[in-house]
Amino acid sequence: MGYKIVCLKCRKAFSNNLGHNHNFGSCQECGSDYIYYNHKFRPPKRDNLKAWKVVSFLHQHGFTFQHVEKEYIKTRQYGYWLYEKYPTNLRDAKSFVAKHKKS
Ligand SMILES: [Zn+2]
Repeated sequence: MGYKIVCLKCRKAFSNNLGHNHNFGSCQECGSDYIYYNHKFRPPKRDNLKAWKVVSFLHQHGFTFQHVEKEYIKTRQYGYWLYEKYPTNLRDAKSFVAKHKKS
């Protein structure tokens, strides 16, 4: 599975195509450490400040677009997890964090 390399400060993201052990170091523009997101992360447009604020907020609270379990579904043959959708506005993000943050 691929993943995304993100600079929250510059609001940019790119996909890692160089393999898991490649070290991208820090951002060439601002020097911040890159953070690594799940391949499911869809980076907002660079000028969408509101959306990036939500991403930063979630990151501060430890949510990096990893799977967040919502509900375990059990059928007769097998069971599987449903995952939460990540919020896209700050209000939803706050309740998302409140609900899922491990204390
Ligand atoms: Zn940067």
